[in-house]
Amino acid sequence: MSEKVSEIQEVVIVGTGPAGLTAAIYCARASIKPTIYAGLQHGGQLTTTTEVENFPGFENGIMGPKLMEEMTAQAARFGTEVVYDTVTKVDFNGDVKKLWVGDELIQARAVIISTGATAMTLGLAGEEKLMGRGLSTCATCDGFFYRGKTVAVVGGGDSAMEEATYLSKLCKEVFLIHRRDVFRASDIMLKRAKNDPKIKMMLPWNTIATHSDQSGLTGIRLQNVETGEEKDLAVDGLFYAIGHKPNSEIFVPWVDVDDHGYIVVSDFTKTKTPGVFAAGDIADPNFKQAITAAGMGCQAAIQAQHYIESLNL
Ligand code: NAP
Repeated sequence: MSEKVSEIQEVVIVGTGPAGLTAAIYCARASIKPTIYAGLQHGGQLTTTTEVENFPGFENGIMGPKLMEEMTAQAARFGTEVVYDTVTKVDFNGDVKKLWVGDELIQARAVIISTGATAMTLGLAGEEKLMGRGLSTCATCDGFFYRGKTVAVVGGGDSAMEEATYLSKLCKEVFLIHRRDVFRASDIMLKRAKNDPKIKMMLPWNTIATHSDQSGLTGIRLQNVETGEEKDLAVDGLFYAIGHKPNSEIFVPWVDVDDHGYIVVSDFTKTKTPGVFAAGDIADPNFKQAITAAGMGCQAAIQAQHYIESLNL
């Protein structure tokens, strides 16, 4: 089968979370008509959350999927072409960047990578149904819904310490459940969590099942890693803080990634390949918020625009 080859486009954006869609809005309004590839999860992580209360502009909050629907419509209004397909391979050698979508070759002057990071989960039965109904992968996003309640955080790294410490300010009680009796977290963050009277460390325990009723999560089942003992813990919320997997594989070696797979950027959103920019969670191991992703998307769009202008075509 012969390969279908597109005309050279000005900007192709890969990934339709808040970073990619904000980049699309800015590119489109600057008359660099962008094409955005949505991938498998159009709208990114926000499509798996329920209410978003920390995105400015929505006094009464907005549902995550609705926010992404609005951003997509806003990008489309200014001429963004949204393609519901996945980029599977790229070649960023030379001035014309190449991206493959199935057997179609897409060509572009500039590329904005905004493929996000996928929060790791334990893979317990029923997890998908409980997401946003007791189960969360982001305390900053969802902690507010658990004010005065009892919650558990799973993990032993910096994220787990940060999430537990954040939640302790809102919740009645926070169980920190880790599978080993040594922590991966940095001393300072571990100490802060250990000194917090509301945080109860449970080591070394694995979370092996969830309990729920019609309204959502009601508790979890734990198994002691050393003794095999099992016990139930009643919690209103369960927060996974066991790491994220940045969706960066196909862009290596044209971008550098850190030890965790996050794309390394300098001067805001520039990767090591001229004309290739990265924005949002894919390039942000620290904040991972919709609003910070949107901010990076704006930066990437403006930098892509300057790059295209510099080509003097
Ligand atoms: P991480 O350092 O990779 O830690 C993940 C934790 O989850 C580990 O303790 C790991 O246990 C546990 N885990 C993984 N899979 C598990 C499973 N299937 N069941 C139970 N537990 C599991 O990830 P992170 O905490 O998200 O941090 C990622 C990077 O971001 C790090 O470099 C971190 O320093 C950085 N970060 C920095 C800050 C900050 O400075 N403010 C905040 C957050 C994150 P084991 O230890 O047993 O492997």
